[in-house]
Amino acid sequence: MWKAIGYNVDTREKLKQKKRPLQEGVIETSYETNSTLIQSLNEKGVEVTKDEVQNMYKIKCDVVIVGSGCGGGVAAAILAKSGHKVIILEKGEYFVSQDYSSLERSSMSELYELGGIMPTIDGKMLILSGSTVGGGSAINWAACRKNCLGVIAEASWRSRITMKLQIESKVTISSCGSLLTPTLMISSGLKNRNIGRNLHLHPVQFAWGYFPENMTDLSGNNYEGGIITSIHKELEENSTPKIIIEAPAVGPGSFSALVPWLSGLDMKDRMAKYARTANLFALVRDKGSGEVKGEGRVSYRLDQMDKENLRIGLRKALRILVAAGAVEVGIYRSDGQKIKCRGMKEDDFEEFLDNVVVVGGPRSRGEVWTMFSSAHQMGSCRMGENEEEGAVDENGESWEAKGLYVCDGSVLPSAVGVNPMVTIESTAYCIASKIAESLKKI
Ligand SMILES: Cc1cc2nc3c(=O)[nH]c(=O)nc-3n(C[C@H](O)[C@H](O)[C@H](O)COP(=O)(O)OP(=O)(O)OC[C@H]3O[C@@H](n4cnc5c(N)ncnc54)[C@H](O)[C@@H]3O)c2cc1C
Repeated sequence: MWKAIGYNVDTREKLKQKKRPLQEGVIETSYETNSTLIQSLNEKGVEVTKDEVQNMYKIKCDVVIVGSGCGGGVAAAILAKSGHKVIILEKGEYFVSQDYSSLERSSMSELYELGGIMPTIDGKMLILSGSTVGGGSAINWAACRKNCLGVIAEASWRSRITMKLQIESKVTISSCGSLLTPTLMISSGLKNRNIGRNLHLHPVQFAWGYFPENMTDLSGNNYEGGIITSIHKELEENSTPKIIIEAPAVGPGSFSALVPWLSGLDMKDRMAKYARTANLFALVRDKGSGEVKGEGRVSYRLDQMDKENLRIGLRKALRILVAAGAVEVGIYRSDGQKIKCRGMKEDDFEEFLDNVVVVGGPRSRGEVWTMFSSAHQMGSCRMGENEEEGAVDENGESWEAKGLYVCDGSVLPSAVGVNPMVTIESTAYCIASKIAESLKKI
């Protein structure tokens, strides 16, 4: 199969590193039992006492952070560097590069929330989000943090820990990301009406161009090289980006899920062209928003302006692919809208572009439908100047529970105009620095 689609990656088992970068700080609960967990915590300098009355072990630290992604990772680094005892709880597992198999399906299951298959309630948007030590930072950039007392990583389905644990800390930080911080806050009894709302997703639509080896000067295959190789920003009048076009690598499994089913023959043809099909996606800074209604339950509505921007972005992406020499271009709509470019008249292409419109999802009543995707979630526990406006205050602290902070993409008040990781890390830096200051006074 791989040969037929021109796909070839090295799946040989890699040599295991003797010592993994976070080894000294990580306790992986899937490898621990009740007794070894206490021993491991003690070895890492964590104070654990047994409460005989409640039959529970109590762990003491200054700060406990739930989630080790862009927000949680930065917060842990800042607070640990300020001399505080920090424990991170992470539900995903710990992997280093030698652990990766290069296989798309198993990597998705290991590294992504719900194995990378998380649609919105109406099935229109496929949401991708990291769930591993390092969260989203581990699946696009290498995470590296020091001086942290410990990351407790757990794959709950494999955990053999049966005893009750209670962590006592001066400060608690939720860094579960925009999809899961709201569920943690709500299940903890918080009632602020902004929790879960105002979820922004940076919706994305893909365009493709086919570049056969014998008909173009461009060498290489779509899955080789960097994951994202170029970015182009379309600016608003005030110079902030409103549409971003990016060139990603797309694995064969994801590609086959994007390609609409027209017939068995068409699917075979498209898969045979996989390696030489370049993809561009248009991402918009969304005005529309959604709501986290529970774990894995997300609703979302595109604004009319978002649809228009996606349409503009898709058309630009198609123009770029044609200018680069593609012999055929198209989008991933259910009717497989595409056009052959060799000998194509300009008017024909313009007419084709006029028919590129953003349609509804699989459950819409339209004749054709499409799927949207999102890898950037923001805003579901936004900061506000009072509790009517936000779920947390300008320091990231809950309006309802003192000492409870949020430090991840969910505090952003709106969708940002760029890929969000660095903004989230910078926001986490500011929140954590203020927490470090406030801890000095306790
Ligand atoms: C495929 C992909 C590619 C991306 N590429 C880019 C890019 O190129 N540039 C860019 O700027 N951004 C990129 N992003 C977005 C970026 O990674 C995210 O915006 C960022 O990671 C969000 O940070 P966060 O702290 O809000 O949450 P996350 O980084 O998602 O971290 C949340 C962590 O909390 C853990 N968690 C959740 N609930 C619990 C719980 N109850 N107990 C314990 N742990 C829990 C999760 O397992 C996860 O590890 C990409 C995202 C994806 C999915």
